Amino acid sequence: MKIICVGRNYAAHIKELQNENPNEPVLFLKPDTTILQTNHPFFIPHFTSEIDYEVEVIVRINRIGKHIQEKFSHKYYNEIGLGIDFTARSLQNELKAKGLPWEKAKAFDGSSLIGTWFDKKNFQDLNALSFSLERNGKRVQEGNTNQMLWKIDALISYISQFFTLKIGDVIFTGTPSGVGAVIENDIFVGHLDGKHAFTVKIK
Ligand code: ZN
Repeated sequence: MKIICVGRNYAAHIKELQNENPNEPVLFLKPDTTILQTNHPFFIPHFTSEIDYEVEVIVRINRIGKHIQEKFSHKYYNEIGLGIDFTARSLQNELKAKGLPWEKAKAFDGSSLIGTWFDKKNFQDLNALSFSLERNGKRVQEGNTNQMLWKIDALISYISQFFTLKIGDVIFTGTPSGVGAVIENDIFVGHLDGKHAFTVKIK
């Protein structure tokens, strides 16, 4: 399986990183080796001490598809969840400044936290889902899928123009504002529409 990540999908987050507003979704891939084992802590990697958390709504593909029309996108997923796209921010900024690919900053081992999957039937409107991230009991990020520049169905259609979507692929749909650095012993808890999605400790 592969993980397809969307960058710059929330206006307030684009502003906080001083990025330009994109005309099209920004996409990047992460291999399956980035998946953090369920209930395992996140270990700050040896190559940097500057890791940011990015809480994101995630979608699990359940059907193979290519060139999917947006009106049919809903047929390609039935589970939704919440995850963290851990990012080596200073390394990413270095790579960006040099015009180099981001992989080392984004696709390192353990950088993809995938929380509990929920049947999408549990939610009334996938385009109005609130979600939040708490760090040591204090809310640090909150968002709503209604703030996405490109909504889930539009993303699936767009992504499938470039990459064949396969069963089990996961889409990280972008982070809202409020990203920040993790510190050893932090505990992060994610909620999607009021449901507990994950708890992870930083080591
Ligand atoms: Zn992200």
